[in-house]
Amino acid sequence: MNSMAWTLASRAALVGAAALFLGVVFGGLLAWLLGAAVVMLVYLGRSLYRLERWMRSGMTRSEADSEGLFALAYAEIIQLKQRARRRKRRFNRLLREVRDSTEAMQDGGVILNDQFDIVWLNEAAQRLLALDFARDRGQNIANLVRHPLFIGYLEQGNFTEKLKMPGPARNSHLAVQLIPYGNQQKLLLVQDITREVRLEIMRRDFVANASHELRSPLTVIGGYLEALLEDEGLEEAWHAPVAEMKRQARRMDLIVHDLITLSRLESAERAAGDTPVDVPAMLSMLVREAQSRKDRPHTVELRLETDMLLRGEEQELHSVFSNLINNALRFTPAEGRVACRWWQDDEGVHFSITDTGIGIPEEAIPRVTERFFRVDSGRAREVGGTGLGLAIVKHSLLRHNARLTIESKPGEGSTFGCHFPPMRAVAPAAAAEIVI
Ligand code: ADP
Repeated sequence: MNSMAWTLASRAALVGAAALFLGVVFGGLLAWLLGAAVVMLVYLGRSLYRLERWMRSGMTRSEADSEGLFALAYAEIIQLKQRARRRKRRFNRLLREVRDSTEAMQDGGVILNDQFDIVWLNEAAQRLLALDFARDRGQNIANLVRHPLFIGYLEQGNFTEKLKMPGPARNSHLAVQLIPYGNQQKLLLVQDITREVRLEIMRRDFVANASHELRSPLTVIGGYLEALLEDEGLEEAWHAPVAEMKRQARRMDLIVHDLITLSRLESAERAAGDTPVDVPAMLSMLVREAQSRKDRPHTVELRLETDMLLRGEEQELHSVFSNLINNALRFTPAEGRVACRWWQDDEGVHFSITDTGIGIPEEAIPRVTERFFRVDSGRAREVGGTGLGLAIVKHSLLRHNARLTIESKPGEGSTFGCHFPPMRAVAPAAAAEIVI
């Protein structure tokens, strides 16, 4: 029996015995026993009342009843209270440390609930997003950070990648990422990437300007070399060197042209326009051109399984398909085969080009879209590439919300696929409506 029950039982027994004795001595036993029960009830009620009053008045040790019926309960409650106080102190210390360390962070952090309402944000987030914790707490972040890119990022629901967007401060740039955690909570990380973006713009402008500056002297050099070659007075010994100079000048011109195309793509808005482009007609023309080449592989064919058109930029799509077709022709031997296909399914519209050429080693596949990356630079130069073709393809596809896939086996051949989402596809009749 625990001690409180024991105290109650012993006191009830004492009062009961007294009532029994008095009842036997003076008579009226039932009345004495009833009286004893009332006394016990009053005693119990009074103890409960005192306990409740003590609990309401702050539960101080000095006012605790250490003798009465609930003495043990008083002691237990005091211990619980001390433990809770210690836990609270520890928790507060931890909270202070977390807050101090997150305040010291250069990057912003915003805690959002399942509705994207602001629960908490650090100093850096207030500065970078022009928010104020006291004012904006509990507000929906989409009502405060109104950039369309950010709203789109929240709506599309895939947070595996960072979003780069302009910040609220003039000429500032931010990289943000949502990290879901716990019970539908989200942490929004905000990084200031203004410096990196400025350097990137400077690099891009430099390459674009240098390329533009190189164009005119190259045209002049090419023109003079052309004239020299046609000059009947040119000594025989000079014919081959001048022809080689002319070839190299032409190659430089192609590189400069591709560099300009690439920097134009990089500085353009992320999404391409949405003019309907007749891809089946474009592919037919490109494949016919390829078939008419003397140095082409044995078989070059095209299967058009859909007549769907694409919303996009005609010039960019032309450079995507012509780069892929040219590569397939250049890296496939004379007896090989190049097969193009244009088709549609639930995931969108697709172009693929499969060749039976030299193929690409597995470790080089992720790198072929890098600028100037060549699996075999000697051979690539020999077959006349600039090293920028696939970089242009990748950027153009990105602007059309499309994906590039590459499958290849050395010695067996390669398949390059361009996968456009359904929103980019447009039926020929619908296209006519848009054009008119
Ligand atoms: P390049 O002008 O050198 O062809 P690209 O960017 O178009 O530049 O291609 C990069 C490299 O990828 C090429 O040098 C080549 O090594 C490899 N490559 C591209 N297409 C093919 C292909 N169809 N078959 C084999 N290798 C290829």
